[in-house]
Amino acid sequence: MAYAFDIAVIGAGPGGYVTAIKAAQMGKKTCIIEKAHLGGVCLNIGCIPTKTMIKTANLLREIRNAAAFAIDGIEPEKLSVSMPRLQERKKAVVNQLVSGVRGLLKGNKVEIINGSASFMDAHTLQIGDKKISAEYIIVATGSRAVIPPFIELEGSNNVLTSTEALDLNHVPGRVVIVGGGVIGVEFAYLLNHLGSKVTVLELMNHILPMVDKEVSAMAQKRMEKDGVIFRLGAKVKRLKDNTVIYDMDDKEQCEQADVVLMATGRVPDTEGLNAEGIGLEFERNALKVNESMRTNVENIYAIGDVNGKVMLAHTASHEGLTALGAIFGGHGAINYDRIPSCIYLDPEIACIGLTEEQARERYNNVKVGKFPMLANGKSLVEGDADGMFKVIVEGTFGEILGVHLYGKHVTETISEIAVALAGELTVDEILNSIHPHPTVSEALPEGFMAAMGSAIHYM
Ligand code: FAD
Ligand code: NAD
Repeated sequence: MAYAFDIAVIGAGPGGYVTAIKAAQMGKKTCIIEKAHLGGVCLNIGCIPTKTMIKTANLLREIRNAAAFAIDGIEPEKLSVSMPRLQERKKAVVNQLVSGVRGLLKGNKVEIINGSASFMDAHTLQIGDKKISAEYIIVATGSRAVIPPFIELEGSNNVLTSTEALDLNHVPGRVVIVGGGVIGVEFAYLLNHLGSKVTVLELMNHILPMVDKEVSAMAQKRMEKDGVIFRLGAKVKRLKDNTVIYDMDDKEQCEQADVVLMATGRVPDTEGLNAEGIGLEFERNALKVNESMRTNVENIYAIGDVNGKVMLAHTASHEGLTALGAIFGGHGAINYDRIPSCIYLDPEIACIGLTEEQARERYNNVKVGKFPMLANGKSLVEGDADGMFKVIVEGTFGEILGVHLYGKHVTETISEIAVALAGELTVDEILNSIHPHPTVSEALPEGFMAAMGSAIHYM
């Protein structure tokens, strides 16, 4: 049977647009259907706008601290951020990237179709009054913010999700953030530095569930020093007229807020897709896929946040390449233990692989090495030597199991370990490679030396 397209991709986030470009580069007739903005959540209301705003928070803090760098003439109490101008800068950065994506799609001859796609059958999509057919369909519809139904809302509440919080035109006074995951912690960092009084309520007994506990505890301590209040083991159950009501230490407690930010997780977005109608299977609320990203319907694949595996932009893109590899040959399956995860505070957090706890559950011989950033020259030069490099190694063969970094610019440093893991390198190759001085990344071999015996620059 002849189809109008070889590949139709639904959703133009970092999963969808990367997949569509790659498919076109492979010579496949490709279209991409987007109901809102090219670039998806990541470029428009996720990664890029948050980091743009965090950059201003970091700069403000550095300028406030200018005297420590021997710069005279700055009066810290006079410094403030113009939120309308920050919004303008955010929009300019986003617009530049979104138009770049449009240019790449067009340049690669991907047909862009605006509108919301709905399955008519396994090969046919309806978009408004248009119908298109494709041999393969890749669902990349992402996820959306939710106010969880288990939290009751009474009276009048000023509740935001990350989407509205990114559009704030003023710095709110008292902010209560429900959820101490990545979104909760990045916004706590941002709003605290912009001048809000921030309290984070987190259900678990530690923040940032995916990060090694020792590292997340250090980041928490630093943020507390900077003014953020964390209430752990706090189960939020109700909001009444901007009062957040939660159970903690077997007592009902409450916190008054001007603004409440809900950051309790996102849900895969399959609204209006008619996925159930054509028999696509779900796993909880995500589209169920195998290791090739294939759903239970042979020609339909689901990549990125909508399959609910790991909700990160770079995972979405890589899953798209994996799906194309499964269809046309090339890219192999993803090893989910090798996905870097970065949290944009200052100092930053970057991790890959197993936490110490997970490693000890899976392996008998685990060695752990730690190197404090206080002993790293570049961090002292930068004026902020808070942090630690923690590495986790299998003791017999020197396999790298996990790396958890907390320090300046570590979101750039972690890629070295991603390459090392992709190449099945061991501790030996890290120790045999020469790291430039002075850099933050030279603390990596020190961490591995500490795991295997002793570091040189720290006792
Ligand atoms: P999305 O980016 O969600 O894109 C899906 C697209 O599909 C959307 O544009 C949507 O409009 C469209 N769509 C949905 N349904 C249909 C339909 N029926 N028809 C047509 N189009 C449809 N990840 C990181 O890796 N690093 C970060 O720093 C980071 N920061 C984040 C900060 C915030 C505040 C948030 C909310 C998320 C952040 N993330 C970050 C997560 C990241 O944004 C997502 O993992 C990523 O966007 C997922 O990509 P995707 O392609 O699967 O889906
Ligand atoms: P999350 O799952 O990371 O964190 C949600 C937190 O809310 C958890 O710690 C959970 O214990 C807590 N929680 C749930 N119910 C609660 C309750 N009733 N009371 C108190 N706490 C409660 O979700 P998120 O932070 O919303 O982020 C969503 C996704 O976006 C993540 O999967 C993340 O990967 C992605 N993201 C990534 C980045 C980044 O890579 N830098 C930044 C932002 C978002």
